Amino acid sequence: MLMRMNGNLKLLLPSPLHELKDDLFIEKKIKVFFKRDDLIHESISGNKWRKLKYNLEASEGRTIVTFGGAYSNHIAASAAACNYYKVNSIGIIRGERPKKMNNTLLLAEKMGMKLEFISRQEYKTKNSSAFLEKVKKKHENPFIIPEGGANQQGLRGCTEVIDELPSDFNYIVTAVGTGATIAGISMGLKKEQKAIGIVVLKGAEYLKDEIDDFIFNGSKENTDTKYVLNHDYHFGGYAKIDDELIQFMNDFYLKHQIKTDPVYSGKSLYALYDMIKKDMFPPHSKIIYYHCGGLQGIEGMEKRYGIELFPNTDN
Ligand SMILES: *Cc1c(COP(=O)(O)O)cnc(C)c1O
Repeated sequence: MLMRMNGNLKLLLPSPLHELKDDLFIEKKIKVFFKRDDLIHESISGNKWRKLKYNLEASEGRTIVTFGGAYSNHIAASAAACNYYKVNSIGIIRGERPKKMNNTLLLAEKMGMKLEFISRQEYKTKNSSAFLEKVKKKHENPFIIPEGGANQQGLRGCTEVIDELPSDFNYIVTAVGTGATIAGISMGLKKEQKAIGIVVLKGAEYLKDEIDDFIFNGSKENTDTKYVLNHDYHFGGYAKIDDELIQFMNDFYLKHQIKTDPVYSGKSLYALYDMIKKDMFPPHSKIIYYHCGGLQGIEGMEKRYGIELFPNTDN
């Protein structure tokens, strides 16, 4: 059990589930339900909380060392969660310290996370035993959580998403970065259910093997019946966008008052609609759209691309 809470953190768990009404779904004779992990907490992104939960428990109060890019949802979530549990945290950030710190990094520091910037070259070696040995020497007895919270504890937390859902759905659709979320979800599915992962990186064909390793620890069982990865909706690559995506996200928000983020949930939701339009789900399918969160990253993307998402709101 985690004991050292300071009491300020309110997590909305289990997260809400609701049906989304849309003429398209009526036309195609399907039902779509939203699992709202975006509502768990404003700076602890939904699936990042799932992945941190058992890591924090396993850390038993040791200093957390973890990794991410300058806009990382995982860094923001780790900093906020460690602050809540009064655990020291260190974020190893890809790239040089920016001259002007962005909001993700400023917030992480405000939460007490110490940031260490390493070159992109060195960051590539972050999972090597040589690099990890260096980290262990520098910080006394740290608990190291890989980038994105992608380890077995992380998977275990993600499997709990399924426990919070009714058991009679056919498909669950979610965004895929490291693949830990879809691996954890797949482990919780019944035989006749399937997860569909929308990969947000370009050319990430290696993910299938990595996810299979996550689920079966290397044994080559056939996992195709549990989940599939769709590589058609990366929009040019990680954190790449185009006008159509932004237009879709804004239109969807105007219609349903639900925000998505341009890196993950915007792409997976766009994909869901496109797949439905292309009749990739049989009539009478019951589909869960898993909204992982990620909204803390919106501001960084707006600045980077000089765009405005959800005009006339104070996102
Ligand atoms: C990190 C993240 C993902 C990707 O999760 P993985 O477990 O790395 O595949 C998807 N959506 C959002 C909003 C995220 O922050």
